[in-house]
Amino acid sequence: MSYKIQDNLTLIKARIRAAALRANRDPARVRLIAASKTVSCDGIREAVVAGITAFGENYIQEARSKIESVGRTDISWHLIGHLQTNKAKYAVRLFDMIHSIDSLNLAREVDKRAGKEKKVLPVLIQVNIAGEASKSGICPADAISLVREIATLENLSVRGLMTMPPYFNEPEKVRPYFRELKNLQAIIRKEKIPAIRMEELSMGMTGDFEAAVEEGATMVRIGTAIFGVRMQVR
Ligand SMILES: *Cc1c(COP(=O)(O)O)cnc(C)c1O
Repeated sequence: MSYKIQDNLTLIKARIRAAALRANRDPARVRLIAASKTVSCDGIREAVVAGITAFGENYIQEARSKIESVGRTDISWHLIGHLQTNKAKYAVRLFDMIHSIDSLNLAREVDKRAGKEKKVLPVLIQVNIAGEASKSGICPADAISLVREIATLENLSVRGLMTMPPYFNEPEKVRPYFRELKNLQAIIRKEKIPAIRMEELSMGMTGDFEAAVEEGATMVRIGTAIFGVRMQVR
């Protein structure tokens, strides 16, 4: 199957750029992560040819076979899906960044495994900004203390925050959640916690990435707009 990725990408990049400029932001500060769950290795290769350099995967097993097949040259691989503690070892080996750290227990396990691999792994803290029961992520009220504790772990490097806001088919309804994540980032920055960087905001998907960019996203995770509608394989 052909994904028409080049055409899609041209359009998405233009939309990201326009959204950044509307908010007086430098478009170069917004990184596109292609959310490639369920996309075949051929689809991923097509995306690489079209100029994509970062992919986000959700499941360890799926990611492992794709990364083995597609490789790592000039590509960074991001774990954007929920991570179970017992899979931390694989996540550390496979990924260049983990967006979904949401508990001290998980952070400690990833830290331990990263130490064994002699890696310092960049991570984002996933925040459940709307407090939805169905979603993973730390609640905003507990985020500062979690960041403080993770900051002491030697093999993790905290780079910022990630969120999966509630789903609305209208981006304006999602915007307040993006704004809240940005506010939380500012609050954590004021704490001046040593050994962390609070520069990244991973937020925005196909339906709402322009609002996310306007509100300060530095990483947008886009799947459908690049690859088309996913087949339901899970
Ligand atoms: C699938 C997924 C995305 C991308 O979703 P689209 O709506 O297809 O752009 C972004 N983030 C996460 C965590 C995902 O699982």
